[in-house]
Amino acid sequence: MKKMISILLTFLLLAGLGACAFADETPKETGAILDGRWLNADIQGNVTEETPAELKDDFGLFVNKDWILQAQIPAGESKTGSMEDVQRTMMDRQIALMKDDSLTGHDAELVHKLYALTSDWDYRDAQGVEPAMPTIEAIQGIDSLESVTGYLCDRNNLMRFYPLTMAVSADLINPDIYITQIGTPSLMLQDSAEYTERTQAGELYYTLYEQLGTYMLTRLHYSEDEAKQVIENAFAFDALLAAHIKPTATHYQADYFTSLLNYYSPEELTALAGDFPILDMLQAFGLKVGERFLVTEPDFIAALPELYTEENVVLMRDWMALKAAYSMGTNLDRETFKQVEAISNAVMGITGETSEDDNALQIVLGLLPVPMDNLYVQAYCTEQQRQDMLDIIADVVAYYRKMLESVDWLSDATREKAVEKLDNLRVRAVYPDELGDWSDLDFAGIETGGSLLAASAAVQAYVIAIQSDKIDTTVDKDKWDQLIMRTAMVNAFYNPQDNSINILAGILNGEVYNEDMSYEQKLGGIGTVIGHEISHAFDTNGSQFDKDGALSNWWTDEDYAAFQERAAKLAAWYDGFIPWEGAAYSGQQVQTEAIADMGGMKCLLAIAAQQADFDYDAFFRQFATVWRMQALPAYLVTLVAQDTHPMRYMRVNATLAQFDDFIDFYGIQPGDGMYVAPEDRVAVW
Ligand SMILES: [Zn+2]
Repeated sequence: MKKMISILLTFLLLAGLGACAFADETPKETGAILDGRWLNADIQGNVTEETPAELKDDFGLFVNKDWILQAQIPAGESKTGSMEDVQRTMMDRQIALMKDDSLTGHDAELVHKLYALTSDWDYRDAQGVEPAMPTIEAIQGIDSLESVTGYLCDRNNLMRFYPLTMAVSADLINPDIYITQIGTPSLMLQDSAEYTERTQAGELYYTLYEQLGTYMLTRLHYSEDEAKQVIENAFAFDALLAAHIKPTATHYQADYFTSLLNYYSPEELTALAGDFPILDMLQAFGLKVGERFLVTEPDFIAALPELYTEENVVLMRDWMALKAAYSMGTNLDRETFKQVEAISNAVMGITGETSEDDNALQIVLGLLPVPMDNLYVQAYCTEQQRQDMLDIIADVVAYYRKMLESVDWLSDATREKAVEKLDNLRVRAVYPDELGDWSDLDFAGIETGGSLLAASAAVQAYVIAIQSDKIDTTVDKDKWDQLIMRTAMVNAFYNPQDNSINILAGILNGEVYNEDMSYEQKLGGIGTVIGHEISHAFDTNGSQFDKDGALSNWWTDEDYAAFQERAAKLAAWYDGFIPWEGAAYSGQQVQTEAIADMGGMKCLLAIAAQQADFDYDAFFRQFATVWRMQALPAYLVTLVAQDTHPMRYMRVNATLAQFDDFIDFYGIQPGDGMYVAPEDRVAVW
């Protein structure tokens, strides 16, 4: 599995969907954490004129209070903040590119063709829900196990939902080779633990599926009673799957990566799957049969024969029907689109509607990430930007090296390996040298009777074919894969599988980085982002991969035990945070990101210490400014359930409180909210 570790959460499943039916009762307006010292300033409405905001007690709120009091969440959105402002800039630029008829070449032609399919509502309304009906009717025709298999193995069916995932990525042990990974299917409630004990987040996902599912199914000609039955059956089958899938919490355990190392030959995989026709499914999906498979949860694959039975045919049929109906809501006519948006917004507490341009961009980016990204690079990226970033990265790496050399709890043997890993760090800055080539892709446009669903199927088949070609071939580590990392994404990554940091053009805007900033502000913004990403090489996950990106232990036992002890102390500290009344917080879930926040800050403070007359106030304020946010309650419920990053107010306060440079500069004393005694500090590095 290609585990990318990112500084931001851009892929939160429900981002863009719309506070929940129970938004009025949760989260409560009490965000007291750490013995009641800090307020959860991220929740919209939690901070008022009367809320105290002393520098020494709550630095994040002190810096951001004026902004919070005037912040408005845009129509159709669930949050606002510095990162969201950068996102807005990037979306506006990409919308302009998407609509620019003067652009030529194959990439531009694909984009214009898809944009027309998306934005021509007269054309879409004339089609109505017809593009969906062949899929729905084919699923309705399923009446035996043989017909389930027939449906899933027929590549003429535009949408096929398999009870497992199949993907191609670099191998964990040997990251130079591409391998096929067989994983567990995504669940409607996101986490198998939700099927035994439903949390707030699970309720939210259930409500979304139930309400959107009911609307979409009836729109696709099911009666109300039939729709109700389909949803019940679909969740029943999802629960059968969930019973054999490990809860998400296990992904945060120290042995998670080693638990994935289950290799099978095609013959062994066939034997493991029993009566479930796994290789037929794989080939119907579009992947060739490679030499070996990495099976993330063999117990799940071994259980498939008892789930894939004649007895469960009706449940499977309705599981596919609900998934199909749910996923088609934004690709049909205007009436369907508007209803789906209204239902999502009501569930998520969102007011207003997103603009037509934003909606079109989401679809175009979703289907044509590489062509769109090529247009962006050509229009906006400069060699100067890249050189600026490479200079800052070189500075941060140099100080990181000093920091590793001065850590007192590492033995020389482990220290040497850590420095070697740092010295081998691969850097991808701003944009790729070589643009992605999607010149072989085509699909029918408006002129030839195309539809969004058909275009979507064509793109999916195209991408799967590219992936299939990679199986058993050598990974080109110099390549920048825009399919995974679009240049225009507002993000930065560390990829443990090629030991690389990747700073994307999209994040270099607004409060994170702009040319008018002072040196200190640049360090407080993009500097801390870069430090954070490099720290991921040495967080609980990254530290399990070596300088070449192989999952391999380079630690002495004693040093690794010391590292784990420090990481556990950090997790325990975050366990005590209460984002709102009644909500539990998982320190283990946010551990890697919190380690990276603190490691990055330590490194940047080391750089600051070398500068004459360094403006610490500007540096700390910029850091707090980058992470300001106001968000709707339901969005934060999904965030606490899924995001591996600490909430933003914690990222500011919990990080800064670890460092003497901060505490001494502002004269913070025991008893102040921002004071953490040296013996209680939890920074791992
Ligand atoms: Zn991160």
